[in-house]
Amino acid sequence: MINLIVLHCSATRSVSEYTPEQLERDHRARGFSRAGYNYYVRRSGRVVAMRPLEMIPAHATGYNRNSIGVCYEGGLSGDGVPADTRTPEQREAILRLLQELLRRFPACRVCGHRDLAVRACPCFDAGKEYANCKP
Ligand SMILES: [Zn+2]
Repeated sequence: MINLIVLHCSATRSVSEYTPEQLERDHRARGFSRAGYNYYVRRSGRVVAMRPLEMIPAHATGYNRNSIGVCYEGGLSGDGVPADTRTPEQREAILRLLQELLRRFPACRVCGHRDLAVRACPCFDAGKEYANCKP
């Protein structure tokens, strides 16, 4: 049963574009059948469906079978330092996407990748920020 939504960042610099095509290519290069995340949120706020929800995603070791992976474009400052680089458009789009997913999967809680593994990703406290997120 899907009971977890995991937020990620693409770990790319906020000053450069990282397209869904590049993401797809990079994940395939790592040996994935296709992009590991279910959704990718561009800096513009555009939400791109990557891996269909019917398929098991590949984004958080040990949690893929019961989770949905959402990644936002960015997560590194212009100097390459981990940072919350979400644009206002991304913040709004992520919130709307989470609300929609929570409607479809009411058993879910939201967390960040860093709550599951020793990582900076997604460079902000997603568990805290979205603790009270309701559909
Ligand atoms: Zn991550």
